[in-house]
Amino acid sequence: MAVREILIYPDPMLKTVCPPAEPGPDTDVVVQDLIDTMVAAGHSVGVAAPQIGVPTRVVVVDVSRSKLGKDNNHGLLTMINPEILQREGNKVMREGCMSVPEYTGNVTRAESIVVQFLDRDGRERVINAGGFEAVAIQHEIDHLDGLLFLDRVTSLKTDIFRRKR
Ligand code: ZN
Repeated sequence: MAVREILIYPDPMLKTVCPPAEPGPDTDVVVQDLIDTMVAAGHSVGVAAPQIGVPTRVVVVDVSRSKLGKDNNHGLLTMINPEILQREGNKVMREGCMSVPEYTGNVTRAESIVVQFLDRDGRERVINAGGFEAVAIQHEIDHLDGLLFLDRVTSLKTDIFRRKR
């Protein structure tokens, strides 16, 4: 159980394509550290293992306390080896990332998704996610493939915004 330091772009770990995780005690430590780190950050709605320096396919997502996600969510999701099985629709949203603290960006993603993963107990789950939760899940899964929202914007000139301090 530990709050971990978040790696910041352009750390090479953030460009890593992560190998699958093995459910078990080692992965459970990663899961707990991700949850602790997300909760400690306060405004965070998700963290991926490579962001804390662990190249493995594990993410946590929880949009239930966010303004945009509070009405439509599955609570705290622990996703081991998540895979998107279906995508529907398109939606542009302004995204931020703890690994890119200075900027936000407009990103187009699927409006709803069907995603399969193993939960913390190693059980296979398939859920239907929509709205902000779907966006957050897609953002976190991108991290497992070495992709940041910066890689998803249409134009680095018009779709990236510097955060006001
Ligand atoms: Zn991120």
